[in-house]
Amino acid sequence: MSLANGRPYLAIPGPSVMPDRVLNAMHRAAPNIYEGSLVDMVAPLRADLKRVACTEQNLAIYIGNGHATWEAANTNVFRRGDKAVVLATGRFGHGWAEHARLLGVEPLITDFGREPIDLTRAEAALKAAPDARAVMVTHVDTATSALNDVAAVRRLMDDLGHPGLLMVDCIASLACDEFRMDDWGVDVMISASQKGLMTPPGLGFVFFSDKAKEVGKTSDLRTPYWDWTPRNTAQFFYENWYGTAPTHHLFGLREALSMIHEEGLENVWARHSALARAVWTAAEAWGQGGAFRLNIQDPARRGHSVTAARLSGKDGTRLRQWCEHQAGVTLGIGLGMAEPGDPAGDAYFRIAHMGHVNAHMTLGALAVMDTGMKALGIDHGPGAVEAAARALASD
Ligand SMILES: *Cc1c(COP(=O)(O)O)cnc(C)c1O
Repeated sequence: MSLANGRPYLAIPGPSVMPDRVLNAMHRAAPNIYEGSLVDMVAPLRADLKRVACTEQNLAIYIGNGHATWEAANTNVFRRGDKAVVLATGRFGHGWAEHARLLGVEPLITDFGREPIDLTRAEAALKAAPDARAVMVTHVDTATSALNDVAAVRRLMDDLGHPGLLMVDCIASLACDEFRMDDWGVDVMISASQKGLMTPPGLGFVFFSDKAKEVGKTSDLRTPYWDWTPRNTAQFFYENWYGTAPTHHLFGLREALSMIHEEGLENVWARHSALARAVWTAAEAWGQGGAFRLNIQDPARRGHSVTAARLSGKDGTRLRQWCEHQAGVTLGIGLGMAEPGDPAGDAYFRIAHMGHVNAHMTLGALAVMDTGMKALGIDHGPGAVEAAARALASD
């Protein structure tokens, strides 16, 4: 007997749950890509995307996943041999830096391990590389769930008179955590469709400031397909996409953006924050009577779209498998969390609360985790689901 045979819930940090409205919007015949509704849709769609990023500057849309936007951003900004200050707080920060290195950029990595950026160390890194072309930050590193204070990094750069571009990976955080590109002085922000934007993987976004556009003119890594210049316009449709447009993804994204703006961006952020706090409250209760721990101790430095947690031994993996096969909830694997005695990172796992997620889904996932720990004999403190309910009731 399995209790998994209802509607499954994929609670991994991307791809995220796709709303029926998004799925239904894509369920249609192939459209004309040269004129008509698809073409007419692009200008308002770009405007609505910029509203989600809180920017009035530039945007290039690519057919590609998050990794594609790493390459897009890197090739438009850097020259071979440029230095980049990388403030890495998990696997994804290192990944973006490695992409830059493979292109001939010299990444100067400050490794914060599994912790968020510490501004004292960031200051030392900036002072040591006053000629770096850019500073690369991950807003929420999906591996550690560390939330970085992007505005504070910008203030630090300004205080030091550092001329570099501030580049931020918001793939896991856009439309989940508060992010204000223009107010926070971000020059390049990358994101992708399959996380907070609730659309299938396959669209990548590079938002860039007028300053980045200017600086990027001297990049020598740019190749025709990745060049952000022709993509930064809604006027020439075929050229704009460098070929066939991602037709059905655009219809899906159109609907997702409508949903976000109908709810209100600030309400979307508040919902993610409330659901995240419910997860953290449950985690605290579980931790009272067993090995359950969250990766990030300071709640102010935890991302609101994903929570990285650990048990002990192989219990993270055991719990994940139980939740999926016995209860229909798929949790995320631990990423980049190998350690001596646990080479596969089996103690770790992640719970996503990203995108199209509401109270019953998060409370359901927490109740399932609680049930799984009971079924598997994993020690845990009592009252976690009760505590999560109280947290949500008082929000
Ligand atoms: C998911 C993610 C990526 C990679 O995105 P893909 O679409 O899997 O290539 C990069 N950075 C962050 C912060 C992410 O969460």
